[in-house]
Amino acid sequence: MAIERHALLLLLICRLLATVGLTVAPAEPLLQLFDSDVVRLDPPALAASSSDFGALFTAAPTAVARPRSAEDVAGLIRSAHAAGSFPVSARGCGHSTHGQALAPAGLVVEMARGRLPGHRPTPVYAGGQHYVDVWGGDSWTDVLSWTLSHGGLAPKSWTDYLHLSVGGTLSNAGVSGQAFHHGPQISNVLQLDVVTGEGEVVTCSNEENSELFNAVLGGLGQFGIITRARIALERAPQRARWIRVLYSDFAAFTRDQERLIALDGERFDYVEGLVIVDEGLINNWRSSFFSPKNPVKIGSVAGEQRVLYCLEMAKYYHEEDGGEVDGAVERLLRRLRYIPSTEFTTDLTYVEFLGRVHRAEERLRSKGLWDVPHPWLNLFVPASQIADFDSGVFRGILGNNTGGPVLIYPMNKNKWDERSSAVMPEEDVFYLVAFLRSALPNSDDPTQSLEHLKQQNREILEFCHRAHIKIKQYLPHYKTQGEWVDHFGPKWNRFVARKVEFDPKHILGSGHGIFHPSSSPSSLFHT
Ligand code: FAD
Repeated sequence: MAIERHALLLLLICRLLATVGLTVAPAEPLLQLFDSDVVRLDPPALAASSSDFGALFTAAPTAVARPRSAEDVAGLIRSAHAAGSFPVSARGCGHSTHGQALAPAGLVVEMARGRLPGHRPTPVYAGGQHYVDVWGGDSWTDVLSWTLSHGGLAPKSWTDYLHLSVGGTLSNAGVSGQAFHHGPQISNVLQLDVVTGEGEVVTCSNEENSELFNAVLGGLGQFGIITRARIALERAPQRARWIRVLYSDFAAFTRDQERLIALDGERFDYVEGLVIVDEGLINNWRSSFFSPKNPVKIGSVAGEQRVLYCLEMAKYYHEEDGGEVDGAVERLLRRLRYIPSTEFTTDLTYVEFLGRVHRAEERLRSKGLWDVPHPWLNLFVPASQIADFDSGVFRGILGNNTGGPVLIYPMNKNKWDERSSAVMPEEDVFYLVAFLRSALPNSDDPTQSLEHLKQQNREILEFCHRAHIKIKQYLPHYKTQGEWVDHFGPKWNRFVARKVEFDPKHILGSGHGIFHPSSSPSSLFHT
């Protein structure tokens, strides 16, 4: 209540100053409301939230905040709202690649740094299911460790890398090799607490305030800041049998991938894939288990083909069922048409399996190769056009150096909720194709340069446009509002209506550049 009275008073002061023609630095009032543990204006704190994992964009905020509760977040947003058009962006772990969590000359709300020490959520069993309520800035790796230590539970749907915040991945979708069966992470959330653009804390779900719930899921941080998420849990498996097989025939590869994600009964728990265009990549950071025990030479398996496709699968199991996993894997592999003799199998704990990209991160960090520019491009490609994409991109534009792993795996659209803000192609099956590139600024090889990789990204997008391949960007980044209108397609008007309802002053999520504070609602609706 004290915070509300202060905010009201500050609003009146700001209005009064504006009326008499004076301006007030919007960050200053925040210092009156919050102590210096919560709001920071010092240069090191501002610098830490001025860039992201991509290292392609920088924009300094005027203030950063580390809220300890939903009420803190609400107070921060109410102050920004009162100050007029002061941009606010939530930041989770800052693993975006195109400045999506930046707030140029605004306020960055550092959700991952804000929670109280000792915060340790415990799972609950109610209404016939297990779930856990977590803070929006909690990382998925913490969520896993809390839920495992309470009754051996775990979330069902993951990202490949777990050092991402719950709020950050739910603002996009959160996809990995489990999405074909469980849907993306946004399909596995039961309830949220969201602080809207007017500073109101709202509990929402599919049953209660459903418009806000669906707006926020995949909503790119445009409609509110997620302070609590209720995540559905299952009994965690203990081990994973992890298998990789190689193809030189793209049609056989995608036929097998699509067959695996359509299975109803006995099935794998995880299905992904990689495109391999050179010797270097076959043993790269995403495919490290081929090496050093199983080094693979492309020439020895690919014959005349320059490009190989790696199908990656995992079957989870409990130790007491260990005797059955061999037979199940054998029956599933028997249906596939990969190159004989290219089967690579490993067996590890479930936690080790989920930690696979983090181990790669540690290796890259030790070589100074983690904090480099990351011009990533993530696309959803309709299944009916994936063969055209292969000829034009994997066997065309890419050449023989991709600058990093290229992932490719299909998902079932019926596991996605059309009511969410997430955008996907209009087909029952679509592929994620992810170019996870790292630029090496000091390399002698021009194909490793940032400019070269960015140019390749542009060529891929232009090729899709020319060939009428109806891609949608995942983790999207566009420069103009017209491009955003195209991206959302039939969902645009609803997206705008939701913005008008939940963030009428357009203060949230400015890092994306979708809305400008001055744009009026009537100019935004597309006819
Ligand atoms: P940030 O970069 O901090 O924020 C991302 C967006 O979410 C911003 O718009 C921000 O404003 C908004 N946001 C953040 N917190 C909140 C909140 N509490 N409420 C509302 N909005 C919020 N993605 C996948 O789907 N699958 C993968 O397998 C995958 N693997 C990855 C591997 C690596 C190594 C990296 C770097 C990224 C990967 N990603 C993957 C992408 C990742 O999911 C997104 O970049 C995600 O946004 C990162 O989460 P973050 O906490 O770092 O978010």
